[in-house]
Amino acid sequence: MGSTLFRKVWDLHTVRRLPTGQTQLLIGLHLVHEVTSPQAFDMLRLRGQRVAFPDRTFATVDHIIPTDGQPRPFADGMAEQMLTALERNCREFGIPLFGLESGDQGIVHVIGPELGLTQPGMTIACGDSHTSTHGAFGAVAFGIGTSQVRDVLASQCLAMDPLKVRRISVGGALAPGVYAKDVILAIIRTLGVQGGAGFAYEYAGPVVGRMTMDERMTLCNMSIEGGARAGYVNPDDTTVAYLRARRFAPAGDAFERAAAWWRSLASDPDAAYDDEIDVDAGALGPMVTWGTNPGQSVGVGERLPAPADAAGAEREALADALAYMGLEGGGPIAGTRVDVAFIGSCTNGRLSDLQEAASVVRGRRIATHVRGLVVPGSKRVRDAAEREGLHEVFREAGFEWRQAGCSMCLAMNPDRLEGREVCASSSNRNFKGRQGSPAGRTLLMSPAMVAAAAVAGEVTDVRPLLPGPEGE
Ligand code: SF4
Repeated sequence: MGSTLFRKVWDLHTVRRLPTGQTQLLIGLHLVHEVTSPQAFDMLRLRGQRVAFPDRTFATVDHIIPTDGQPRPFADGMAEQMLTALERNCREFGIPLFGLESGDQGIVHVIGPELGLTQPGMTIACGDSHTSTHGAFGAVAFGIGTSQVRDVLASQCLAMDPLKVRRISVGGALAPGVYAKDVILAIIRTLGVQGGAGFAYEYAGPVVGRMTMDERMTLCNMSIEGGARAGYVNPDDTTVAYLRARRFAPAGDAFERAAAWWRSLASDPDAAYDDEIDVDAGALGPMVTWGTNPGQSVGVGERLPAPADAAGAEREALADALAYMGLEGGGPIAGTRVDVAFIGSCTNGRLSDLQEAASVVRGRRIATHVRGLVVPGSKRVRDAAEREGLHEVFREAGFEWRQAGCSMCLAMNPDRLEGREVCASSSNRNFKGRQGSPAGRTLLMSPAMVAAAAVAGEVTDVRPLLPGPEGE
């Protein structure tokens, strides 16, 4: 019987089995940012400890930084304090920091892959739920809490319960206007937001095999929204091609040796899984969330669920979500007015996401009542987009072109919804109050769909707006 990639990587990183039944797991790469690390560094200081492997630890700043101008000190005193603390901690503990002036700053889950830090076969931890993103490379990657950040800083190890593995095979072919974001929203709708509890998701099948690394990252990024602690894709030619010549990837002969090893880590054809499901993506249309968790979504042409058709707790949950969102059960999602359009985040703030969105808004204007923000996922993404002139496309359409950061995904910086504003967002969470206003409302969708909503001023099907034979 063969083995899954998850099991191979887990076994290779097992230090020992703990008396608790947990595994002491060696962490190959630890990514650090300004929000979940200050207390962890303080705990280290209190104990007189050093960072065990500073060469396996990298830091960036993403959550709290302003994106409309970054002169220091920041106007927000708390943000300034957090960045200053990170800078001091990195200096004191000998950790490389990709700061604002480095040219490499960005959202931690965007810069890790683009710098080649993220590699197949690694165990990767970061004090952020969306660390699952890095699984796109065939790494076992998961988010951790602040006390675990301390543990990894001090020992490079974590005490972990092993996960079961569910293989999700995505078949068919994606229609134009349908993206990885739609696939993962459909998967979460099918399996539920808690459906992945205790599992790592292995994404496989022809659709995933044809996906670019950017698309695979979008898929793995939202594993956590389906309750899975981790998600991954087996390394293949696409993975190897992406990593070649990246700054922290091996070079020359070492790269070829690494590539051969990476490929060998892919799940064996006769591997046993704890669960397997098939998803047909051929019939999928653009998806939009209508509720207050990422599992509450519909195709843009579908009608919203009606509480009357559900029973018990489900009925109550539907009614509550619809009331919060101000939507009518059984009504259409298309035509829902939006106030803000946000393109960015670690889910969909990469160059290809900006290219897709720009192709929709090129030569058009966003609706006069819509505030549009484009926030690249990293400085490198921003620079690459500007080399292609995408910033001009967005600006001419009426969008604000911002500096790299998390921005309105979480609104820990000044980019926030106000009152009951509705935001078409390419991010990953639509919880109540997620985007900074306690009453704000979030509709998750692909970047192209956000662009279409911005132009129409309401939720609309992007497909007629696509360039080429499918659209105008
Ligand atoms: S973009 Fe959003 S989800 Fe991603 S790391 Fe930043 S705050 Fe977290």
